[in-house]
Amino acid sequence: MTTPAYEDDNIFAKILRGEIPAVKLYEDDDTLAFMDVMPQAPGHLLVIPKSPSRNLLDADPEVLARTIPVVQKLAKAARKAFDADGVFIAQFNEPAAGQTVFHLHFHVIPRHEGQVLKPHSGGMEDMDVLKANAEKIRAAL
Ligand code: 5GP
Repeated sequence: MTTPAYEDDNIFAKILRGEIPAVKLYEDDDTLAFMDVMPQAPGHLLVIPKSPSRNLLDADPEVLARTIPVVQKLAKAARKAFDADGVFIAQFNEPAAGQTVFHLHFHVIPRHEGQVLKPHSGGMEDMDVLKANAEKIRAAL
């Protein structure tokens, strides 16, 4: 089974082109990290490669090799910022697996013992809350 072609009208491609805003956390030549607007827990962020791929299945392994260290960097910062017990990393491939935005991204979600996650792609968070949480993560980077 083949992976469908990348389409550059997806929301993360628009964020990368600066066509829509995002609460940004970190950027380098290859990657961008920003807050998820529908967080499953406080501090939920996304790391994306700048290079286009639909998901993990069609990604260039060299792009993955440059992205994972940034996922680690942001996971450590999010854990520190929220004094979390653990960090959940998630990545979905194709709609059957839960993917809703078709530009490769890694979810980074700080977790606390006993805390129940909110639903995936649930309600929009208040922008002031997202900005305050982003400030905590930036300070921990
Ligand atoms: P997926 O289901 O594709 O793994 O996850 C897509 C994620 O993107 C969801 O967690 C959803 O909350 C988030 N998301 C959807 N639209 C936007 C947006 O416009 N901006 C940001 N920052 N996140 C988004």
